[in-house]
Amino acid sequence: IKVCEAQTLLVKQENESLLTDKRAKKNVAEDSSTGTPQSQPFSGKQWKGIKYKPWANGCLQPTNKIKKPSDKEITELLFRMGITMMPAKIPDDTRKCMFCHQIGDGVADGPARLLNFDVDKWVHLNCALWSDDVYETVNGALMNLENALQQSLVCNCVVCHRSGATIRCFKLRCSNVYHLNCAVKDGCVFYKNKSTYCTAHIPKNEKDNELTTLSVFRRVYVNRDENRQVAAVMHHTDQNNLLRVGSLIFLSVGQLLPHQLHNFHTPNFIYPIGYKIVRFFWSMRVPNKRCRYVCSIHDVAGRPEFRVLVQEPSQDDLELRDVSPRAVWTRILEPLAALRREIGGVQMFPKFLVGEDLFGLNEPAVVRVLESLPGIETLTDYRFKYGRNPLLELPLAINPSGCARTEPKLRSQFPWKRPHTQRTGSSSRPVFVPTATVAGEASCPYSKQFVHSKSSQYKKMKQEWRNNVYLARSKIQGLGLYAARDLERHTMVIEYIGEVIRTELSEIREKQYEAKNRGIYMFRLDEERVVDATLSGGLARYINHSCNPNCVAEIVEVERDLRIIIFAKRRVSRGEELAYDYKFDIEDESHKIPCNCGAPNCRKWMN
Ligand SMILES: [Zn+2]
Ligand SMILES: [Zn+2]
Ligand SMILES: [Zn+2]
Ligand SMILES: [Zn+2]
Repeated sequence: IKVCEAQTLLVKQENESLLTDKRAKKNVAEDSSTGTPQSQPFSGKQWKGIKYKPWANGCLQPTNKIKKPSDKEITELLFRMGITMMPAKIPDDTRKCMFCHQIGDGVADGPARLLNFDVDKWVHLNCALWSDDVYETVNGALMNLENALQQSLVCNCVVCHRSGATIRCFKLRCSNVYHLNCAVKDGCVFYKNKSTYCTAHIPKNEKDNELTTLSVFRRVYVNRDENRQVAAVMHHTDQNNLLRVGSLIFLSVGQLLPHQLHNFHTPNFIYPIGYKIVRFFWSMRVPNKRCRYVCSIHDVAGRPEFRVLVQEPSQDDLELRDVSPRAVWTRILEPLAALRREIGGVQMFPKFLVGEDLFGLNEPAVVRVLESLPGIETLTDYRFKYGRNPLLELPLAINPSGCARTEPKLRSQFPWKRPHTQRTGSSSRPVFVPTATVAGEASCPYSKQFVHSKSSQYKKMKQEWRNNVYLARSKIQGLGLYAARDLERHTMVIEYIGEVIRTELSEIREKQYEAKNRGIYMFRLDEERVVDATLSGGLARYINHSCNPNCVAEIVEVERDLRIIIFAKRRVSRGEELAYDYKFDIEDESHKIPCNCGAPNCRKWMN
């Protein structure tokens, strides 16, 4: 308090002296106008009853000496006086650079700030920018970061010997590779043309092109696929990452089976069963407080039911149910408006609030996901906001009966021994060993066509496959894929996409998926490799088995990669369900899976 008093005192004195000065000047001006100069008023110690002193540095020191308080003392004083507001303590930065492993933002003339690379994955701007493989577009997008990160895993820094080093000496045959910080410490030189040289190889006469600072004063960002990131968050709801948009937290996308599609949408909105979000909104019971509203969509007698669970500290949970998002939210908004009127708060107009908005069904990221749900593209009376072609290929969240390739219900009834993967190798029974169609090899009727055009045909198919197929309820089992147009014989219809994994991993994953009661979609590529389409697969995995199929799955080598491609085996008419022979291993009696294909030549069992 003493400090404060001293300070106010100081200010008062200053003000006084200023005032004196002004008056004095005014006086002088008046005097000069009248032309009769007077004696200087500054000489005396008192002028018109005001004490003054001629200005000099330090002339206003308070007479009694006060020790200047330290910053810490001032902070303590402010707290003791209770006149200060402090934000809650910011949690420690846990973001770690994937290259240099340092935590938090770096200095501008060093690693610089962290840029987001993927969900919960960060890289320092300069660690990324100076990486060997990374280049920057005119817009400032950093490209090829994925490759750089992949390579960095096996590159150890010559200074600290840890992995994640990506900054190479440009001298031919010099193998020095560094982290950014280590490169700076070691005296590496950075050039304007984005080249770097280690101390041993600094080029002569290039002084002009050296960078004097690593600070970046332009816009730089990591080029990333946000749709893919959103999709990744959707798939891994069990992990810690949540999608949050403003006051909305996305919990679950839900699903719609083909027979539910009709009742669970309007021309503008899709209402998937199991959809769930949290909305933070004004409380209708406690004035000026917000609370959690858990909004979800359920199936009640084949119709959507909208539920809102109100969760609020010191209040009982309350669940509201109604037939539309608007109806259920009106039951919250009306009491809220009444409460506002009662306390004279800012007025609220429930009729201008849209229930779907509060449910998050209008949120662009959410709409994208909803429009990517399997089967939505078949709707004829829904107005697509992002086009009929799904941007994300989402598998069903739960898959009661995806297709014959997967049938969890059956598997829980009988101890099926992996009936859903095509087994090869160890078994002595007749097995399906796929053969790669390599150029020039005439192992299948399509190879001739491929010799010249497999690559271009593949490219064409990758662009156009969405016009070839659509998803709908299968006549054989679960969901099925249908021909969306007439397909000529030998047409590449669709690629069976998924993650290529090793056999060992596929066996581990099978157990994990089984434990979660997920439908399992795997396709054996060869002895060592399996394509897992369970989480990341495309629509091809919904194609069912038939003993008299109209399609055939072939493993084709395209640009040195093996790919599984579904071909039309014969001419297929629009609207026909697609099927191919799964060619499962023959299993013993206790592991048989019945076949429902309905073909005249049906073998009755799939294995
Ligand atoms: Zn870094
Ligand atoms: Zn290092
Ligand atoms: Zn070098
Ligand atoms: Zn059959």
